[in-house]
Amino acid sequence: MPAIPSLDTDFEHALVELLESSHRAQLIAAGRRLVHVLAPGSRLGLTEGAAEENNDRHLVLPLGEMPRHALKVELPAGFNRAEFERRIALVARLLGAKDDQLRSLRHLRESVHRLERAERLQRALYTIADQASSDRDMPDVLAAMHRIIGSLMYAENFYIVLYDPQSETLRFPYFVDVADPDPPPIDRDFPLSEIVYSPTWYLLHNGVPLMGGFDAIRKQVDGPLTRTGPSAVDWLGVPLLHEGRAVGAIVVQSYREDARYTAQDRTLLSYVAQHVRTALERRRAHEELGRRVAERTEELTEANRVLQRQVLERQRGERLQAALFRIAELASTTDSLDAFYAAVHQVVGGLLYARNFFIALLDDDGQSLRFPYSADEFDTTRSTRSRGKGLTEYVLDHGTALLADSDEMERLQATHRVVQSGTSSICWLGVPLICNERTVGVLAVQSYSAEHRYSKADQELLTFVSYHIANALERKRSAESLKQAYGELEQRVDERTRSLAEVNRDLRQQIIKRERIEQRLKYETLHDSLTGLPNRSLLLRRLGNALERYRQDPTQIFAVLFLDLDRFKVINDSVGHLVGDDLLFQAGGRIRACLKAPDVVARLGGDEFAVLLEHISDGPAACRVAARVITELNRPFRLGVKELFTSTSIGIALAAPHYRRAEELLRDADTAMYRAKAEGRQRYALFDERLRHQAMTLLELENDLRRALTRNEFEPWFQPIVRIDDGTRVGYESLLRWRHPERGLLGPDEFLAVAEENGSAEHIDWQMFALVLEQAPRLLKDDNFISINLSGRHFRSHRLERRLLDLLAQHSVDPKSIRIEVTERALLDNPAHVKRTLERLRARGIAASLDDFGTGYSSLSYLHQYPLQSLKIDRSFVAALDDENTGSTPVVRAIQLLADSLGMQVIAEGIETERQRDALAAMHCPLGQGFLFGRPAPASDWL
Ligand code: C2E
Ligand code: CA
Ligand code: CA
Repeated sequence: MPAIPSLDTDFEHALVELLESSHRAQLIAAGRRLVHVLAPGSRLGLTEGAAEENNDRHLVLPLGEMPRHALKVELPAGFNRAEFERRIALVARLLGAKDDQLRSLRHLRESVHRLERAERLQRALYTIADQASSDRDMPDVLAAMHRIIGSLMYAENFYIVLYDPQSETLRFPYFVDVADPDPPPIDRDFPLSEIVYSPTWYLLHNGVPLMGGFDAIRKQVDGPLTRTGPSAVDWLGVPLLHEGRAVGAIVVQSYREDARYTAQDRTLLSYVAQHVRTALERRRAHEELGRRVAERTEELTEANRVLQRQVLERQRGERLQAALFRIAELASTTDSLDAFYAAVHQVVGGLLYARNFFIALLDDDGQSLRFPYSADEFDTTRSTRSRGKGLTEYVLDHGTALLADSDEMERLQATHRVVQSGTSSICWLGVPLICNERTVGVLAVQSYSAEHRYSKADQELLTFVSYHIANALERKRSAESLKQAYGELEQRVDERTRSLAEVNRDLRQQIIKRERIEQRLKYETLHDSLTGLPNRSLLLRRLGNALERYRQDPTQIFAVLFLDLDRFKVINDSVGHLVGDDLLFQAGGRIRACLKAPDVVARLGGDEFAVLLEHISDGPAACRVAARVITELNRPFRLGVKELFTSTSIGIALAAPHYRRAEELLRDADTAMYRAKAEGRQRYALFDERLRHQAMTLLELENDLRRALTRNEFEPWFQPIVRIDDGTRVGYESLLRWRHPERGLLGPDEFLAVAEENGSAEHIDWQMFALVLEQAPRLLKDDNFISINLSGRHFRSHRLERRLLDLLAQHSVDPKSIRIEVTERALLDNPAHVKRTLERLRARGIAASLDDFGTGYSSLSYLHQYPLQSLKIDRSFVAALDDENTGSTPVVRAIQLLADSLGMQVIAEGIETERQRDALAAMHCPLGQGFLFGRPAPASDWL
């Protein structure tokens, strides 16, 4: 029996081989060698499972602990079986252990591999999500997704298709194919029907993945299959699903035999597809949001731009408004024409670049140009020139504005032979000064440097302003020429060289001129020059219309608000009248802003405004408007850098059947306003029963007057009229007094206005005349006269002359000793008629005096038309003689000269001081009356 080898080299070698083997095959080979080394010639095999049993011939030994494999050895002949078994068992155990080790190693490797793949997938999905939310462009994002999918499977040819089930259109946001010579256009919509029955169509239509070659796919679909594009060896498409419906698909395809898709790829791609869909959706939402944000931003920017433009326009409007307002003011506030021009320059400078500025005026004959004002960097003087071919003349000729840069000037030179006189400028802007539809001059600005150029807007602005300047200029010039006219007249009479006839002719010319000015003034009489609002006349006119309508249809209720600004005088005195005027201007605007279309706000003068509210429903509605106006005017006013506060009190009168005239409503609103003020300002008051009651006391006065007439409560007092140089009495003025049973002696100021209003003034006068004439014979000594005051209303009666003469005859008074005193107002009421009446009276010996001269219209034009014997200089001028600064000496002197030239006698009224008397005497004023010489007193006092 051969000995069993000890652990010799061979065995050792075989054992190492076994232990080092890292694969199943190596293991088996090593095991076989071990057995051979143990028992040469024995045969050995490995069985699957430990199914076979041991028998005489074979030994079957399980390998390791898991008896899935067994070692099957054919027993060599002649071996001690037990010994052999023992050794083989050792080998089997070794083999088994090694086999187990190898198996678990393989398991480990596999799971590492799996984990790696899972990680790769995970990373891919992350990257996809990442891409979706990145701000890169869509094509870049899709390319990145393509790369990611390429890292998971073979995806050299790859496309994404998106499908809109509603419009049944599809588009390819991404398409890469190495073999397709005619790829579909990127991102263009086309109908799904264009690819009908293609694999993609089925994919979108059925919403299930498709995989395989053309034939394989045909088996997966339930209809005909058509080919699109080159035929692929393998094709894998998965739908992008949204709520169970396909909204797109991802497709990979292969043209290579060695690259094919597996079920695992399909699962993977399906999985990735859902992520791609979410990513695309999120991306789209993100873009949509971005687009909306951009849109909104754009909208806001636009709104902002519009707002800014509005603000600018507003500012410009305000600036312009202020400028126009200043220009209107300038005509009356500047002392001289030169100052006026300079001020205009300043105002224009506030609106545009006016470093170089001039005013050119055409002479009366239209042949030469004067430059009464010029400010210029280069041309220090601009002398008068005869009309030539300059830019200024061009504007004069055409009567329209001219904006000329160098090109335009060249063109004008070529076409009209226009040559710029003076230093040539880079930009020239001139506008005509048009007055009464006649171009009287040009206002021009120019620039010598490129940085200042004028635009069309500047031209418009200057043109606009020019109307106002021309207007103001004309007013200013009229005022100036009037002043001059007075001056010239004075001088001429002073010289006493010319004949009276000559003076008269001059005078007539002055009168014509003056009348022209008056016409213009009349034209402006319907608007207030400061605020541009309608004035009292216009308001009364509108009020009259509203009243008329109301009386025809009593449902057409309307209301009048009368308001004035509280404490305005204080503001005016403390901040200056310019600011005060500005405040009035703004206040007018605010009031107007509270009203609706047909309503009118008018400035009545000073700080008084009135509003006509048409179509108002009732008193409360008018009160609501009043409350609104009060709130508006309570807001601070921004005037330059100052912020001022004012408030208003409002009186309201509502249309009612007893109103006959517009003035009555205005009067009642005024009365109510005083109530509002008395009750603590900043409030409104409705003219109501209580106020009506107050008005009733007025009625009482009227009743009293009537009673006074029947009870002969009136009596004449007399004031002496004297020669100023020596004080001798030449006559008396009779003055009305009322001996009221309860109130005592009343002067005309206390009741005459009411009497004029209710028509009793005439009756009172007649009573007075009778009494005066009764007492006249006693007062009239030598050739004294008595003058009686005549209310203007008398001239409405055709019986005046007859009645007066009868009365004179009745009392045997010589008409020559009686004078009548009439006011300017009375003369103007019905000039032709009054003139005839006065002429007839004069013919019968009764002379007329013009009373209160200088306080009324002071128009020279009518003086010479009327047969006036004397002219009474109003007390206010006489009183002003006392003050050297504001002295009225020139005025009184002018009146005196004028009266002299017209052959009128002058009587100065209200002489109270010796100084006044002396001043008048120095001016050769012949007659006077006043407290200095004697106060009015009953006739008995003078006897
Ligand atoms: P008038 O015609 O200007 O009369 C002169 C007024 O000046 C008078 O006021 C007289 O008292 C006042 N007076 C005279 N000298 C002085 C003086 O030195 N200083 C001051 N401060 N005042 C002086 P009276 O009497 O109150 O009359 C006021 C006006 O009433 C008159 O102004 C006249 O327009 C009107 N009037 C007066 N009597 C009659 C009348 O019989 N018939 C009519 N229709 N009107 C009359
Ligand atoms: Ca008088
Ligand atoms: Ca008078």
